[in-house]
Amino acid sequence: MKPRVELDDIRPYEPPRMAWEIEVDRGSKEYAKLTMNELSFGPLPEARAAAMEAISRANRYPARDADPLRKAISAANPGITAANVVVGNGSSEVLVDLLQILDRPGEVVFPWPSFPFYSSATRVVGLTECQVALDERHAVDLDALHAAVGPETRAVILCNPNNPTGTYLPLDRVRSFAGALPERVLLILDEAYYEFVEDPAYAGSHELVLQSTNVVSSRTFSKVHGLAGFRIGFGIAPLGISDYAWRAHVPFSVSIVAQAAAEASMGQTRSITERARFMTQERERLQAAFDETGLEYVPSHTNFILVRTGPAVFERTGVLVREGEALGYPGWSRISIGSAQENDRIMAALT
Ligand code: PMP
Repeated sequence: MKPRVELDDIRPYEPPRMAWEIEVDRGSKEYAKLTMNELSFGPLPEARAAAMEAISRANRYPARDADPLRKAISAANPGITAANVVVGNGSSEVLVDLLQILDRPGEVVFPWPSFPFYSSATRVVGLTECQVALDERHAVDLDALHAAVGPETRAVILCNPNNPTGTYLPLDRVRSFAGALPERVLLILDEAYYEFVEDPAYAGSHELVLQSTNVVSSRTFSKVHGLAGFRIGFGIAPLGISDYAWRAHVPFSVSIVAQAAAEASMGQTRSITERARFMTQERERLQAAFDETGLEYVPSHTNFILVRTGPAVFERTGVLVREGEALGYPGWSRISIGSAQENDRIMAALT
């Protein structure tokens, strides 16, 4: 058997270095794992209870179309209906489902550095990639992105806010960009870090989705909801796209437990908002400490911060961060914002 030649250059996902791979002299066995932009807190109590209850129904397949969850998601995004919502095994799967419905051959355009999965997923599904450099402030360059769109372009992926830089674009700029795109090109707004952006000019992409035929917003339960291990994310799409995304979707890919936990978590708007606020306050605290010590960083609108120093600095206090080499930023590190105690350890590493 000869595998497809496009796969020859693709490596399986390489997770960040783990504690046991690193020798750190820090006097305690407790590492702070701040490598993957996870939440340092577990699921909300309501989500945990719903998951426990769902375990007793694990002999049954989950609802294929995740109806109760899709209703909860549409209730939280006024104007959309459950028919606009697609779910997946993480927003990663939603992304793959969307790439699967694109015409072949063709190209997918996205900013770079950005979420590395865009590159491998594009190639795995048999499309080609076009990476567009960020601007000098580490932000997505919409003019350059627009200029890269050509006759072969099938989709543009806009990571907003962008991973790994934490920069964001307000909705009016996204709207103008979407309006200038040919309608035959799908615009995927990857909003995995949606809840951490405080600027009121950012939120509301679901309205743009409803006004368009070619814009999809993708979000996740992996970050502020603290459900990364359950693997569940969703997309908000015009009906013509959600219909086709379901056709490409692997049936039952989201477990009954994940659906139950996500539905319960979606209903806890106040607790989720409080969590997001805690993270943004901690972000400010960390950035103020970086200012004080003169550590260069990219001002963040997410639950992570890109800083200009290697991981070894943070390993001194037992904090594991993502090495910038893996993200297109050699010599930098991406630090996920953790609990208050974990963030204290980040700051202790700087003194
Ligand atoms: N998009 C971005 C920008 C991400 O950073 C991540 C996870 N790190 C994802 C999507 C995927 O998240 P998940 O599949 O867990 O929903």
